[in-house]
Amino acid sequence: MERSSVSPARPPARDAVAAPPVPLTLAGRRGKPPRHLADLDLAARRAAVTDLGEPPFRAVQLSRHFFGRYTEHPDDMTDLPRTSRAALAGALLPPLLTAERELSCDDGTTRKTLWRGFDGALVESVLMRYPDRVTMCVSSQAGCGMACPFCATGQAGLTRNLSTAEIVAQVVAGARTLADGQIPDGPARVSDDPSKPPRVSDDPPKPPRVSNVVFMGMGEPLANYANVVAAVRRITDPVPEGMGISQRSVTVSTVGLVPAIKRLTSEGLSVTLAVSLHAPDDELRDTLVPVNRRWKVAEVLDAAWDYAAVTGRRVSIEYALIRDINDQAWRADLLGSLLAGHLVHVNLIPLNPTPGSKWTASRPAAQREFVRRLEAHGVPVTVRDTRGREIDGACGQLAARARP
Ligand code: SAH
Repeated sequence: MERSSVSPARPPARDAVAAPPVPLTLAGRRGKPPRHLADLDLAARRAAVTDLGEPPFRAVQLSRHFFGRYTEHPDDMTDLPRTSRAALAGALLPPLLTAERELSCDDGTTRKTLWRGFDGALVESVLMRYPDRVTMCVSSQAGCGMACPFCATGQAGLTRNLSTAEIVAQVVAGARTLADGQIPDGPARVSDDPSKPPRVSDDPPKPPRVSNVVFMGMGEPLANYANVVAAVRRITDPVPEGMGISQRSVTVSTVGLVPAIKRLTSEGLSVTLAVSLHAPDDELRDTLVPVNRRWKVAEVLDAAWDYAAVTGRRVSIEYALIRDINDQAWRADLLGSLLAGHLVHVNLIPLNPTPGSKWTASRPAAQREFVRRLEAHGVPVTVRDTRGREIDGACGQLAARARP
């Protein structure tokens, strides 16, 4: 891990970071972000361009620019009549999120962006380039209402839901950054999979693309259900309908909103469901994930097993290891016995302490023992490599502070 570097996303003439956010009351708390083509399916985009007096195929042209070439500037759309470009782009590609700051670490292969919405709401996304994949971690809400006490986003409460297009725009922005060659390949490093040989240097470099999208930024995705599901479709539908990223490479992470998990099960999507469990017993989970007071561990897991059965997708159980809170050997055994025999994978996340937190990550010996006991139950488990720690871009640290 290298020292982080800070680079303003916009020319430094204007001190955007210090500018106060537009008061939500003035911008209209109820105001919605402007309509964008990524909010619409292709049929609705055709209708929208027709309303502008343009032939319907312009919707496909605009969609290819946005989803395929990551372009939203009228000047780049040379296949559109010069006279229509500004009107079409103005109506269907309004600016949604403005990059306010960008921070990099891990030799430039991890980059966090702080975005400002039309109303001043702040959200963050993180791009992580690995030798074999590029993952975009996106936000689904500005803030979060779930109030998990160990999570930075949970401390500030919910500001608002993001629109479908505001979610998609984070992925498109990451794709554009990669296509522009702004994210280095990184030094040769040990592959995540030690069984794979390291890439040989005369491999032709593949043009980097966003391969994975995880809804693990700010917010509770299933509390913004309709926009998140629409965003998943836009991200995964083929160009020009959407971006063409594989559904299997998309992960939706939830605190465990059981009715919404059930609804997701019937969507016909093959995305990975991640459940943030963090405790195998209701007594502790009631405090770590307060929504557990409404939907208990057993109900959440039942919904997860249904999801696995219907979709055939392995459910990911997220478990932040917190020293002396949830990392006891007996909790590992209890977790192992709850999960054994199911289509599941456990992701252990060493806690990233939030500022002022009394909690910290587990001791290495406790973490090893936790892994060992889960494995003894036959449960597959990995410890997550937490990228972006020193730019507050690691799991649970996204708090969208405009000032560091
Ligand atoms: N609301 C969703 C998605 C956002 S958080 C959810 O809870 O699943 C993505 C993951 O980071 C969740 O598993 C969350 O519990 C975890 N996380 C939050 N704060 C963390 C922290 N301080 N350290 C480690 N993981 C954390």
